[in-house]
Amino acid sequence: MAKVYLSLGTNLGDKKRNLITVSGLLAERVGTILALSTMYETKPWGFESENTFLNAAIILETSYPPFELLEITQKIELEMGRKEKSNGSYKDRIIDIDILMYEDLIVTTEKLTIPHPFMHKRSFVIGPLAEIAASLVHPVLKKTIGELYLSLPAL
Ligand code: ADP
Ligand code: MG
Repeated sequence: MAKVYLSLGTNLGDKKRNLITVSGLLAERVGTILALSTMYETKPWGFESENTFLNAAIILETSYPPFELLEITQKIELEMGRKEKSNGSYKDRIIDIDILMYEDLIVTTEKLTIPHPFMHKRSFVIGPLAEIAASLVHPVLKKTIGELYLSLPAL
């Protein structure tokens, strides 16, 4: 069993419901939920939109290896109605599930990069994660999530 740390985001439709739905699907298909952060309302980042985001972080225990986990989370995104991939720029989306960390594993492929390459630069990712995993150590930066949180602008 492995501990996996995911970031959840939504800025379309009933956002609170989207986060509840995605948590339920992850519990059903990925594994036991060990922790779920509160939901944070955040401004769109890297693009203009009038739709604010609702972000959360979740820790699950899973028996799936990283690439299978990515397939499952992408299937959930599609099933929940996500239409467009980002292709480098950010867009409105019903649900985005990003794999932030998988134990202390380092993966560097185009299809999957773990730790997520931008996690330490984004308050809306690190803020929720710090609430539930402040002492977790980023395996590349060798800093705790709590330390990374303190180095970023407040949410
Ligand atoms: P973003 O989350 O950056 O807005 P997408 O959700 O559309 O963009 O993901 C684009 C691609 O990023 C996915 O098809 C996936 O293969 C790739 N990817 C690479 N690393 C990760 C990761 N750690 N978690 C989720 N997707 C990832
Ligand atoms: Mg994504």
